[in-house]
Amino acid sequence: MTATGAGLPRPPAADPPHWAQLDEDCAGLARRARRYLDEIAPLLPAAERDRTLPLEVVPGLLDVGFVRGAIPVGDGGTGLSHLATAVLMEEAGRCWASIRATANILTLVAELLSAAGSAEQKERFLRPLLAGERMGWFAITEPGAGSDAAALTTRAERLPGGSYRLTGRKSYITNASHGDFGVVLATVDPDLGAKGITAFLVERAAGGYRTEARPQLPVRAVSCCDVVLEGAVVPAANVLGEVGRGLSLAMRAVNSGRLNVSAGCTGIAQAALEAASGHAVARRQFGQPLAGFQLVQQLIADMAVQANAARQVYQSAARLLDAGADARLECSMSKYFCSEAANQVATKAVQVFGAAGLMEGNVAERLFRDAREATIPEGTSQMQVLQIGKALLGVSAVR
Ligand SMILES: Cc1cc2nc3c(=O)[nH]c(=O)nc-3n(C[C@H](O)[C@H](O)[C@H](O)COP(=O)(O)OP(=O)(O)OC[C@H]3O[C@@H](n4cnc5c(N)ncnc54)[C@H](O)[C@@H]3O)c2cc1C
Repeated sequence: MTATGAGLPRPPAADPPHWAQLDEDCAGLARRARRYLDEIAPLLPAAERDRTLPLEVVPGLLDVGFVRGAIPVGDGGTGLSHLATAVLMEEAGRCWASIRATANILTLVAELLSAAGSAEQKERFLRPLLAGERMGWFAITEPGAGSDAAALTTRAERLPGGSYRLTGRKSYITNASHGDFGVVLATVDPDLGAKGITAFLVERAAGGYRTEARPQLPVRAVSCCDVVLEGAVVPAANVLGEVGRGLSLAMRAVNSGRLNVSAGCTGIAQAALEAASGHAVARRQFGQPLAGFQLVQQLIADMAVQANAARQVYQSAARLLDAGADARLECSMSKYFCSEAANQVATKAVQVFGAAGLMEGNVAERLFRDAREATIPEGTSQMQVLQIGKALLGVSAVR
């Protein structure tokens, strides 16, 4: 990182020491990802400032292993381990959180299609998504249904002939204005509660919905929007999985989503550590570099300890998943720990930068905003705590 903080991630020439704990395949993947991310990093300042996603980077992300890696070979992916896909996400988080968020949503959509799509749906949606020809989004949240996703009210009314008419509003949907299809959760019968919730593949070309921008504090290069479904007609062939099984389908991707966010948060913490260290060495006050002051060393040491601990936590959850364990508890712990750690580390980076760290365009300012997002989507910190409590004590605090 440059000392002023205005510049772009500048990786050390050699592999970072923490790659030594990866096997050679995984380290090679991380190296390839870092090379590509360094290549696209010059697009970051303008994209974040103008809130535009440079869509041309997506095929390259797929080529280095993002999204495709999470999908089995039989479905057109490359079937990487959970550890390898998470390491890719750490690299994306270190370079550019908006790119990590984009890769995360594409991965989620691809995983749902792979888990529940018919052969025909895989051909129409999954294959082109993995080829970088189609982009998908995922919509569950609504104005009245956030943490309590089962409370959603978007209605899917069955029409004569078997198709469905979707009406409702989805909120804060990542990249819905870019994607040409989305996975939308809606209820076929509100009286059935969670058992009425069904996943639908909604296509832009068919019309019936519009997006409304919701300009957001973090990850500014992604689009965040409400999706207003105004009677979008979805053919029966676009029901994803079984009618009434939409929520359990979404739960199938919950571990990898939480792991991906955890790894991305570790990347944010790593980037904050690198930026703050560079600044502490270059910036002089009282006739010497900040780096020589013990209180600044305390900030940097705490940042390094937290970034390293976050890495161990997400990698141990990934290794458990790779060993075939359920690991839902460990993925919740990981999401909780890593997202909170990223916030603490990014806050300390701002402190090391002083006023410069609060200025638009400064790397610490961006990391601070991007870290702030992490404790909210994919289950807030409070929901992770409740999950952990339920797993440990056998009692749900919610219902
Ligand atoms: C940048 C961004 C991108 C997003 N992208 C998407 C997307 O692509 N698709 C999508 O569907 N959604 C998306 N979301 C929405 C996200 O999933 C929700 O914000 C999240 O589920 C939390 O819901 P909420 O914001 O309505 O908060 P609420 O559920 O209203 O929670 C507000 C606060 O209350 C706490 N709380 C709630 N219930 C409890 C409880 N029982 N006990 C203790 N505390 C509780 C929460 O932890 C939180 O602190 C995105 C959000 C953001 C910020």
